[in-house]
Amino acid sequence: MTASIEHDSARIHFEHLFREAIACRLCPRLSKKCAVIGSNNGPLGASVMFIAEAPGRYGADRSRVPLHGDVTGRNFEWLLASAGLSRDRVYVTNAVLCNPCDPRGRNSPPTRTEIHNCSVYLRRQLDLVSPGIIVTLGTVALVAIGLLYGLRASLSTHHRKLVQLSDGRILIPLFHPSQRVMNTRRSRSEQLEDFQYVKL
Ligand code: SF4
Repeated sequence: MTASIEHDSARIHFEHLFREAIACRLCPRLSKKCAVIGSNNGPLGASVMFIAEAPGRYGADRSRVPLHGDVTGRNFEWLLASAGLSRDRVYVTNAVLCNPCDPRGRNSPPTRTEIHNCSVYLRRQLDLVSPGIIVTLGTVALVAIGLLYGLRASLSTHHRKLVQLSDGRILIPLFHPSQRVMNTRRSRSEQLEDFQYVKL
């Protein structure tokens, strides 16, 4: 099979995947939300995949671009650009594809069940994009990867470590680029060091 036929096949499978995800209503609390997935995630075949938590209500839930449109998205894009990484050469997604919100519509953390439900789509994205390096941003993404690989990892012990996964990929756990995390746990300059580390 030639590389171009393989790429066309991956693209077709990806279109099926995002149609299924957009129609998915598996998580009752998120049934009025629509999964953020599509060509805006980045190129199939990207060597690096960033996985964050979930679309934010003022960010990806509106812009339909993962990690884009709110303060977190601006932080992420600044970190990427400052580290010399280009958004059009990496694949960006979330552990949970729909915006988790409380009854008043505010962002809230995804539940373990929602992370588990959506891990099916994460697995399929990994299979189609086939990155050599997976960068998790925050605890939720690390939990999701842990579910897929049977891995018990935490940011406190695995932050910025190169973790060899069972399929040969390398996992690099980093902190989430939200303003709250950058104000309290990992400063802007420390986050920049982390992103520069990914590029090396
Ligand atoms: S979060 Fe994932 S599993 Fe849950 S409804 Fe959305 S697409 Fe489906």
